[in-house]
Amino acid sequence: MILPIVLYGSKILRSKAPDIGRDDNFTELAENMILTLKNQQGYGLAGPQVNVLKNIFIIDTTSVNEEGTEPAVKTYFNPEILDYNTDEVYYNEGCLSIPGIYEDVIRPDKIEVRYRDENFDVKEETLGGMAARIFQHEYDHLQGILFIDRLSVLRKKMINSKLKQIARRSII
Ligand code: ZN
Repeated sequence: MILPIVLYGSKILRSKAPDIGRDDNFTELAENMILTLKNQQGYGLAGPQVNVLKNIFIIDTTSVNEEGTEPAVKTYFNPEILDYNTDEVYYNEGCLSIPGIYEDVIRPDKIEVRYRDENFDVKEETLGGMAARIFQHEYDHLQGILFIDRLSVLRKKMINSKLKQIARRSII
């Protein structure tokens, strides 16, 4: 089932998501989130964006053509960022919850992460390139942070009226 996407302006996008327990069954939610992300042709989708305040996100790198990035669709439960590289890079980011807005955001180019996979097994990995970029964007969502929060005051002022228009369309 394709789920409706929560838009900027909704409170849930500003809330911190709690962890998922081993006995919670989020298989159906994960399947629906994957379908929703494919339908939107996005790279990532976090629980709060489909109105579920839980520590889950999906990353789809199947359309990322980058050396070192494995093309895959993965579900991440209870993700953590253990370490950040001090080298930072800019990338033009967008967000399914903030349609039509794309801005350059600076982030570390490499991160160490820990999460539980679809079998609830603990995994630790080093991510670089687009995988690191998407992971950080989605991880922010679980903390109630949006990519526009990482822009300069000036850039944020420039997109303020567009943001207000999106917030008016937000129904949840
Ligand atoms: Zn987003």
